[in-house]
Amino acid sequence: MRVLIDTHCHLDDPIFDADRTQVIDFAQQNNVIIQIIPAVDVCSWGRIKKNCNQFKGLFPAYGLHPCYEHQPHDIHALEGWLSQEKPVAVGECGLDYFISNADRIQQQWFFERQLSLAQTFDLPVIIHARRAVDDVIKNINKFKKLRGVVHSFVGSEQQAKQLIKKGFLLGFGGTITYPRANRLRKLIQMLPLETLVLETDAPDQPLCGKQGQRNEPAYLIDILQTVAQLRQTDPEIIAQTVSQNTLQLFKL
Ligand code: ZN
Repeated sequence: MRVLIDTHCHLDDPIFDADRTQVIDFAQQNNVIIQIIPAVDVCSWGRIKKNCNQFKGLFPAYGLHPCYEHQPHDIHALEGWLSQEKPVAVGECGLDYFISNADRIQQQWFFERQLSLAQTFDLPVIIHARRAVDDVIKNINKFKKLRGVVHSFVGSEQQAKQLIKKGFLLGFGGTITYPRANRLRKLIQMLPLETLVLETDAPDQPLCGKQGQRNEPAYLIDILQTVAQLRQTDPEIIAQTVSQNTLQLFKL
């Protein structure tokens, strides 16, 4: 039986408070038995810890998301959490040049420090890169021993190859289910299967046909089907390889 892993799911989001148990059950019925829960800010860490303690198959990542407000001392708090809690990754962190009020200097400061923490703690890093892939690559190149995933990857073939060369995996989710996502769908066909991982980014990034609805980890199965169709490969083989990629990266 195939095992699916949602490598990026914000299951701690209060939008799941009313039915989190059912959401996890439904995911498991669809073979999504492991989920990685990335943090967004200091306030989310406690919630994530609680959820990961309560539910089997949930694994935490702690970090400071570029679209949220942070204080410089949050970096010291993060260092403390990483040493105490032993999460599976640092994240999510990164750069977002899409949001209109982006303070790029501040984003850069927090991002670089989190990459440094990931290297110090020998943890993979979960990176958010929106309209900022080149700058993300520049930052990764400053470090010798980093590994991780660029989640919800949207970039060129050349950028993908640069990241892969640095030992990074690329995360793909609901976006690839839209027929108009030509460039991404081509990438899925072309990239080595050993460089891909799957994610839902639930509750965000609903799949094609589910626009306007809350996204859920169970729908990872549809993302798998899309990858299988695009690559004309048996979904079992895709599932096996991308799960293996994930288990290796996060040492689950
Ligand atoms: Zn996210």
